[in-house]
Amino acid sequence: MLLELQSDIIYGPVQSRRLGRSLGVNALPPLVKVCTFDCLYCQYGRAATHPPGETGKHNFPRKEEVLSALEQALKNLSQPPVYITFSGNGEPTLHPDFKEMVAGVRQVRDALSPTSKTAILSNSTTVSDPITRKALAMLDVRIMKLDAGTEEMFSHYNRPAKGITLAETVEGLASLGKVSLQSLFTKGPEGNFSPDHLSHWVKQVKKISPLFVQVYTLARQSPTDSITALDRNELIHIHSLLEKENIPSGFF
Ligand code: SF4
Repeated sequence: MLLELQSDIIYGPVQSRRLGRSLGVNALPPLVKVCTFDCLYCQYGRAATHPPGETGKHNFPRKEEVLSALEQALKNLSQPPVYITFSGNGEPTLHPDFKEMVAGVRQVRDALSPTSKTAILSNSTTVSDPITRKALAMLDVRIMKLDAGTEEMFSHYNRPAKGITLAETVEGLASLGKVSLQSLFTKGPEGNFSPDHLSHWVKQVKKISPLFVQVYTLARQSPTDSITALDRNELIHIHSLLEKENIPSGFF
C-alpha cells in the first residue's frame, strides 16, 4: 500500500519511530514526489528522478510561505515539538532556496520554540554541493541515507538520477562530519540483506564514521514483491555488525 504524498507545507507533529515527536516541514511541491532517487522500497511509489538543478518545472513553495506556515503551526501547538524536521515529498535539499530557508527556520525556532531541534531526513545525494553543505551544517541534526555498500546495489536499490555515485556520496558524508545515517534493509531477491553486501556496507559506514546509525526496515507493506521486511533478529544482526566496529547504532 502506498503512502499519500503531503499536500501541505507543515504536517504533524507525528510520533516518528526514529525521532520521537516531530513537526514535519515539507518544502517540496504539494502532492508530487521530487527526488534524486527512486528507491525500490519508496512508499510514495515510482516516479522519475530529478537531478539536482533540474527541478525548475516544479512549483516549490516560496521560502516566505514555508516560514509563515511554520510560525502559524508553532503558535497553534500547546507543546513544543522535540524536532522540526525537513522531510516530506522527496529530497528537501532540492529546494532552490534551501540554505536561506534553513536560516529562516532557525530564526523561527529560536523565537517560538527554542527547545526544539532542527533536523533533516536527506537521501545524501546533494552532500557534495558547497551551498547545500553550508545549509546542512546549520541544522542541529543531519540524518542521511546510506542503504548501499556497492555501486551496483546503489544503482539497483536506490535508482539514482544520472551522474550520482555511491563513491562521491560517501566521500561527501565523510567530509561533512557529525552526521547520523539512516539505512533501510530488506530481504528477498532484490533486497540488500546478504552477508556479502552487508560487509561492503559496513566498510562504507566506517569511512563516514557517523555519530549513530539508524538501522530499520519496511514499516508497511512492501511496494514490490521482490523485497520484504526484516524480522527483529535480522535487525539485531546488523546492529551487532556495527557494534563489532564500535559504531553506535539502534534498530527500529
Ligand atoms: S529517497 Fe525517500 S522519497 Fe526519495 S525515492 Fe527514496 S524513499 Fe522515496
